[in-house]
Amino acid sequence: MSIKDRIHHVQQTIAQATSRAGRQSGTVNVIGVTKYVSVARTVEAVEAGVLHIGENRWQTAKDKWDYIHEHTGAGQATPTWHFIGTLQRNKVKDIVGKFQYIHSLDRLSLASAIQEQAEKLDVTVKCFIQVNVSGEQSKQGMSAAEVSLFLEQLQQYPRLLPIGLMTMAPFELEKEETRLVFRQLRELRDELIAKGNGKCTVTELSMGMSNDYEIAIEEGATFVRLGTVLIGTEEDE
Ligand SMILES: *Cc1c(COP(=O)(O)O)cnc(C)c1O
Repeated sequence: MSIKDRIHHVQQTIAQATSRAGRQSGTVNVIGVTKYVSVARTVEAVEAGVLHIGENRWQTAKDKWDYIHEHTGAGQATPTWHFIGTLQRNKVKDIVGKFQYIHSLDRLSLASAIQEQAEKLDVTVKCFIQVNVSGEQSKQGMSAAEVSLFLEQLQQYPRLLPIGLMTMAPFELEKEETRLVFRQLRELRDELIAKGNGKCTVTELSMGMSNDYEIAIEEGATFVRLGTVLIGTEEDE
């Protein structure tokens, strides 16, 4: 399937899931995850209209970022970049200033490093707090119970804008268990908003990948992160 056909297929699937859930159309942002593919395929995706690009390591993102920034002319849309992988403090300097969104904020020491670099470059960074809803050992993220205090502590880092929550559902779960993970993230966001007296900025939900994005959308996802189904893998090139 060409990227154009893939985009069409994903858009239809999203429209159906959105409508099943009684949500308004156009409320789901699609991030094309390009970590499996080449610079050429990434450029093809951007030219076909993928406006959000997700990468999980600077090492695999660098050539794509550089190429797109060197070759995008005036008047052409540049994509918005999302960092979706585990982030080490010593990699923060590679990411801040290039990626507008970080989906994997999960500790204060990381927030402090992002603040420092963002101040240096005079930018702000939109952040999702990564939550390990399922409690699975291998998954990154803080527990749901820790998020409220973490948000208060983040106020000392004004260069970070906490805009939402992010989670990954364990891969091997049954559909209805996956749904529960996503639902819990939505309920956590709703609680934070209710407690925030109109001040809570955490409104977005980054959840859903190729194998579970329909469920995530039914449960309220506002950003889905799609690699295999939308962009493809090495085998599709
Ligand atoms: C790789 C990755 C994705 C995309 O995975 P697919 O299953 O190929 O859609 C989404 N989110 C994160 C955090 C990832 O690392």
